[in-house]
Amino acid sequence: MGTSNADVIVIGGGIGGLSAALALTRAGLRVRVHEQASAFGEVGAGLQLAPNCTRILDHYGLLGEATALGVLPESMVMKDAVDATELTRLDLRDVERRYGHPYLVIHRSDLHGILLRACDRAGVELLTDARCTSYENVGGGARVRFAGGGTDEAEAVIAADGLHSVARELLVRDEPVSSAYVAYRGAVPFEQVAGNGVHEKDVVVYVGPRCHFVQYPLRAGEMFNQVAVFESRKALAGEEDWGTPDELDAAFAGTCDQVQKGLPSMWRDRWWRMYDRDPIMTWVSGRIALLGDAAHPPLQYMAQGAIMAIEDGWVLGEQVAAQGARRTGQGSGVDWDRVLAAYGAVRPEHCRRVVTTARAWGDLWHLDGVRRLRRNALLRGRDVHDYAFVDWIFGPTALTPEDEPEMFRPIPLDTVPL
Ligand SMILES: Cc1cc2nc3c(=O)[nH]c(=O)nc-3n(C[C@H](O)[C@H](O)[C@H](O)COP(=O)(O)OP(=O)(O)OC[C@H]3O[C@@H](n4cnc5c(N)ncnc54)[C@H](O)[C@@H]3O)c2cc1C
Repeated sequence: MGTSNADVIVIGGGIGGLSAALALTRAGLRVRVHEQASAFGEVGAGLQLAPNCTRILDHYGLLGEATALGVLPESMVMKDAVDATELTRLDLRDVERRYGHPYLVIHRSDLHGILLRACDRAGVELLTDARCTSYENVGGGARVRFAGGGTDEAEAVIAADGLHSVARELLVRDEPVSSAYVAYRGAVPFEQVAGNGVHEKDVVVYVGPRCHFVQYPLRAGEMFNQVAVFESRKALAGEEDWGTPDELDAAFAGTCDQVQKGLPSMWRDRWWRMYDRDPIMTWVSGRIALLGDAAHPPLQYMAQGAIMAIEDGWVLGEQVAAQGARRTGQGSGVDWDRVLAAYGAVRPEHCRRVVTTARAWGDLWHLDGVRRLRRNALLRGRDVHDYAFVDWIFGPTALTPEDEPEMFRPIPLDTVPL
């Protein structure tokens, strides 16, 4: 199916697949991407990119373009969704100074477009209408098979095929875990929300009982992104048809004015049911490696899903580059067993921490009753310049297990006085 000899095949042309293809091409390899859709693209609205991602975009020479298309917000503010009081904030200018790279928000399709154009410039071979149906290891490499009957083969295959990954079945028989939460999104012209008392230059998260609401500007402030997330009663009752628009307004009935005013701007013709998977610590089978959501789909509460995918690709690229392999008549010269072992030694543990923390973070956001009050007291008591809870994420991406920083230890809620 391929049109030239590729050293590496990447399955899936989402943010994870494209950024991995770019990283490996920059490391001197010939890379071919197979995407099942008939065109490369992204659906959805905004993405938050913390310094552990903008550092990598900078390394690729793409931060200027991302900054021009996105927004560098001034603060991240957390408020109570019921009474609209401020609970805590991150000064994002200070974050930039501390970590050396900015906190950026950007439209998903803009980030995807930046990566696609960079892949194109770098010479990545980009193929569409190619749905991969199976993977197998063969002597000296791996082979993939496509729905149309064709095959492709290379020294290594990176499976960046998302939440419903086919490749993951090589490693584990598991299913996506439903959180019973659903996300509505909406990115609208800023004028549409200007009278709603919104923060023009901040990321704001309203956390409430079984729901939360996120707002931030996009595209140099011309657009405004909102995400409404809530627990679906129909999902809890086991109904098939859950997360439908009739549940949206009811779920936010007890929230403050600022949130209520945002609800009419949500898109009501599509919604995203929130799934993750239990972490797995082995992502590599022979010459086939999982990457991005295929390996570690999170609940989105840490806003690190796309970032983890981009970090995965960067680590692979750095491991290949570190070998300084010389191309021979036989191939790229890369010692793939070493590269994939190094990748498998560092990334699963980091992503396990993020995926499990995202679950706990979501639980904290959605509390009700006394536990909500304890949460509020805990967050109000935080020194705004205390970065203990993000140091382990926002710092440089670890290339070895020894570089991985110690994880933040959450403070038990029951110990917080009211
Ligand atoms: C509401 C919401 C908000 C979020 N906010 C953030 C945020 O602020 N910051 C952040 O970092 N992350 C965020 N995320 C998470 C982020 O969107 C994902 O983690 C990320 O997009 C995963 O990228 P991926 O490339 O691994 O997978 P995907 O984006 O799912 O891409 C997989 C690609 O593979 C293709 N494919 C699938 N199967 C096959 C096959 N068999 N053959 C060929 N191609 C195939 C698909 O068509 C697709 O193009 C959010 C997620 C949601 C739902």
